[in-house]
Amino acid sequence: MGKVLVIGAGGVASVAIHKICQNDEFFTEVCIATRTKAKADAIKEKLEGKTKTVITTEEVDADNVEELVSLIEKVKPEAVLNLALPYQDLTIMDACLETKTHYIDTANYEPEDTAKFEYKWQWDYMDRYKKAGITGLLGSGFDPGVTSVFTAYALKHYFDEIHYIDILDCNAGDHGYPFATNFNPEINIREVSAKGSYWENGEWVETEPLEIKRKYNFPEIGEKDMYLLHHEELESLGIHVPGIKRIRFFMTFGESYLTHLKCLENVGMTSIEPIMFEGKEIIPLQFLTAVLPDPSSLGPRTVGKTNIGCIFQGVKDGEEKTLYIYNVCDHQEAYAEVGSQAVSYTTGVPAMIGTMLVMNGQWESPGVYTVEEFDPDPFMDALNKWGLPWQIEENPELVD
Ligand code: NDP
Repeated sequence: MGKVLVIGAGGVASVAIHKICQNDEFFTEVCIATRTKAKADAIKEKLEGKTKTVITTEEVDADNVEELVSLIEKVKPEAVLNLALPYQDLTIMDACLETKTHYIDTANYEPEDTAKFEYKWQWDYMDRYKKAGITGLLGSGFDPGVTSVFTAYALKHYFDEIHYIDILDCNAGDHGYPFATNFNPEINIREVSAKGSYWENGEWVETEPLEIKRKYNFPEIGEKDMYLLHHEELESLGIHVPGIKRIRFFMTFGESYLTHLKCLENVGMTSIEPIMFEGKEIIPLQFLTAVLPDPSSLGPRTVGKTNIGCIFQGVKDGEEKTLYIYNVCDHQEAYAEVGSQAVSYTTGVPAMIGTMLVMNGQWESPGVYTVEEFDPDPFMDALNKWGLPWQIEENPELVD
């Protein structure tokens, strides 16, 4: 039972807050604080009267540590769930440290002026969080998040050692636009247009952007093209899975998305270098983000499913074995339940679950951790209960 402060009121936050309010036996109070208070008020308006959870709203600039500290001192939450953008991770972690409040997020820190994300900055808080007696839970979304919990679960119940992991993220949703992104466009395009990489024998192997392409026949979806990307969880799983030889991450993209992206790149619209426009400095990618459809507006028009999961190869009792754990989520079902499409849904549900497990003590441990470092069982049970049931397939098709 407790009070949580959610920072951000975008697509993912909206789902997480819906789930917090469904789980009203546990979450007695939620405060939604964001840059544009009207967005927090809109979420509150949708939910009030349908939940026992008491909802309040506040305005905050999460780039400002002092403002955050005053807000936390006023609200007095047990945990802060950061669903703003990765740029705000460190300021929010600083404010949690100063107020001795647990911290949870879904994406690792990325400096706004460099398209490079890694855990280094946040792992640096380990000793200070330990000393303060607070838990920092990093990457409690779907990927990273559920994919790492799937890994911990496979290791606990199915393998003595995992040698190869392929994480496959398939979104077969169709929103009817020639080009739009399913979560924050700026973050999405930075991720896709960056160089790819995978983890092999203790080292990073770098590829050109979208250089490695494969096809995969996804359960409940069918065959799709997918491309190798760098992704957050490769870094932490490379350290936390003993005996691991290789981890790769693939994401599906349609032809139309890639053709538009290439064109936008070629004309310089995806650049994060500031340029002068009519006497004002602007960043082309931020301008593009403002022009593109807001991801939260895609919900009513997106049909189809997502399938995100992990294929494991390893050994159990001296025998080689393979296993696939995945979740399939339907865009329209997600929309009917919480008013958001599946990409926000698959991130918002695990954000609520991670927060609950830190607050109820099951995942409380002073320091800064990624999700695979905790017992996966309560998280896996909660996925089934809160809308993301998972399936297990023995001897799945492998990715070459
Ligand atoms: P949105 O852009 O929809 O929402 C971001 C929210 O953060 C907005 O409400 C925005 O306010 C608020 N915000 C931004 N800057 C500040 C600031 N300085 N102070 C206060 N509030 C601020 O993003 P999404 O909901 O799509 O994504 C949220 C997070 O989830 C991102 O970090 C993203 O990387 C992560 N994510 C993780 C996934 C996973 O599986 N692990 C998958 C998808 C997303 P305003 O509306 O005023 O701009």
